[in-house]
Amino acid sequence: MPISHPTVIITGASRGIGRAAALYFAEKGCRLSLICHKNQQQLEQVSRLITDMGCACLTFTADVADYEAVACVFKQTAALFGPVDILINNAGISYVGLFTDMKPVDWQRLIKTNIEGVFNCCHLAVPEMVRRQSGRIINISSVWGSVGASCEAVYSATKGAINSFTKALAKELAPSHIPVNALACGAIDTQMNQFLSEEERQMLIDEIPACRMGLPREAAELIWQIAQAPEYMTGQIITLDGGWL
Ligand code: NAD
Repeated sequence: MPISHPTVIITGASRGIGRAAALYFAEKGCRLSLICHKNQQQLEQVSRLITDMGCACLTFTADVADYEAVACVFKQTAALFGPVDILINNAGISYVGLFTDMKPVDWQRLIKTNIEGVFNCCHLAVPEMVRRQSGRIINISSVWGSVGASCEAVYSATKGAINSFTKALAKELAPSHIPVNALACGAIDTQMNQFLSEEERQMLIDEIPACRMGLPREAAELIWQIAQAPEYMTGQIITLDGGWL
């Protein structure tokens, strides 16, 4: 039986795909607990749009890589909204440049945010989901996680890790009726891609059979559909890339 107003935690919800997902899930009547890293003001704007729709929304500024900070978010969410029904691990950062130009601090930041952030949130969400034998986890990955991208070697590696973590955790949690899936995005039109010059952007679009970048709203819609899919769909890496790869 579907839960009428599920409690949903979305990381990285101040902008881009996370913001679009927050608004989409609000339209569907969910109670939202939103996290961003630094941009509290932007997150408050998202929250205002959601409360204007008549939905409940909590906002937190926390680094997903900081276990204790994320633990506080889960504790407060549980106290105000009850247990988490859906966890959307969306927060992520990229680094574009030659691997040999990276410093250890650069890849440590990517690993901490893109991998450890997902571990932290899952580790905090799963025990209560198992206790209730109910819940869903959706990790936002990238097509680079399976095919790799030049000049995004470590970013690709972090998303590859998320893909295998998704598949493994899905097996661990299937007996507890908790589907774990990932959405592997292609090029989605968000600030993450703002570094592209107009010419680079056009070259990228020329490679995509759909002749355009994806919209955050399209990613949000698919995240919702994954959240609604039969429990039997688990451990899947679902691609949204306009036929690109
Ligand atoms: P974005 O840069 O527009 O937004 C990123 C969000 O993550 C922001 O809200 C930011 O506050 C949050 N965030 C970053 N580091 C954080 C941290 N340490 N703790 C908490 N929050 C943090 O990015 P986006 O394009 O919306 O990307 C969202 C997800 O989709 C990422 O995981 C990204 O890797 C993935 N993705 C994006 C694309 C794309 O083309 N945009 C493609 C493939 C995958």
